[in-house]
Amino acid sequence: MKALVFTATGVVESHDVPEPEVGRDEVLVHVMTSGICGSELHGVRTPGFRVPPLVMGHEFAGRTGDGQAVTVNPILSCGTCDLCAAGLRNVCRNRQIIGVHRPGAFAERVAVPASAVVPLPEGLGWTAAGVTEPAANAVHAWRLAGRPAGARIGVIGAGAIGLTCLQVALSGGAASVEIADRSPERLAVGARLGARATVPELTGEYDVVFDAVGGAATHEQSLARLRPGGAAVWLGLADHVAGYDAADLVRGEKRVLGSFAYDDADFAGALDLVAQWDLSWVETFPLDEGADLFTTLMNGRATPVKALLSPEAR
Ligand SMILES: [Zn+2]
Ligand SMILES: [Zn+2]
Repeated sequence: MKALVFTATGVVESHDVPEPEVGRDEVLVHVMTSGICGSELHGVRTPGFRVPPLVMGHEFAGRTGDGQAVTVNPILSCGTCDLCAAGLRNVCRNRQIIGVHRPGAFAERVAVPASAVVPLPEGLGWTAAGVTEPAANAVHAWRLAGRPAGARIGVIGAGAIGLTCLQVALSGGAASVEIADRSPERLAVGARLGARATVPELTGEYDVVFDAVGGAATHEQSLARLRPGGAAVWLGLADHVAGYDAADLVRGEKRVLGSFAYDDADFAGALDLVAQWDLSWVETFPLDEGADLFTTLMNGRATPVKALLSPEAR
């Protein structure tokens, strides 16, 4: 079957690969859509995050052998560790991710544990299905922030995670959302979706700031722009450096919350939301064009903000 394969640092290529082996308690999913994630662009460019050769792709949907439309929760947890027992399966001590630790969905077919399969609601389109996984990250971050309806929200970064944070905040009743990015094209999307958009940094004061970039400078900005008592929720992973003013954090009783992935309830919540959203910022391309597209995005092109690959697209 056809697949997009990460073969070496900086290189993804179209290859013919063997059909997936479907293990016990697994099902074969015929892929209809698989989103290119910023973490994959970073992981191909930067040694140490993904181990080649690898078929990536962890944001996907398709059909099972009996024709059922499904998406897949790619976070595989062990179910037996203390964190799983505590209901924190997103940070399971033995977690694996489809498309990271085992072959993913940049391919015509992918084998997944039956327990990871989530049936799609009737009538949900493939575009919406394809952004369920990034949206689930945003639903989780919004929940960690205490679902702050009525709050003034700042969002740093207008990629897929930042835009889904924006959309979750507006769906959740935020008083206002301001979004900042260096890319005018991406900010135009944020403005269209209902946010105030600013280049390159946030300018106001916020009750909650979501940092969807995760660099030292955005960490610093996310705290500097908070009101005392506010919370910064960090989703981005661009840099290991924290970079913020710790004395300001203490004197202002500010909080920093790390947000990683989602649980099953967040994932289900995302499925409800994506059905209602404007997803005009999401574009679908043939899987055949995946190598060129991936390389262009990896080299810094800002658009399409979210690219989905489909073996069915022409
Ligand atoms: Zn992702
Ligand atoms: Zn576990």
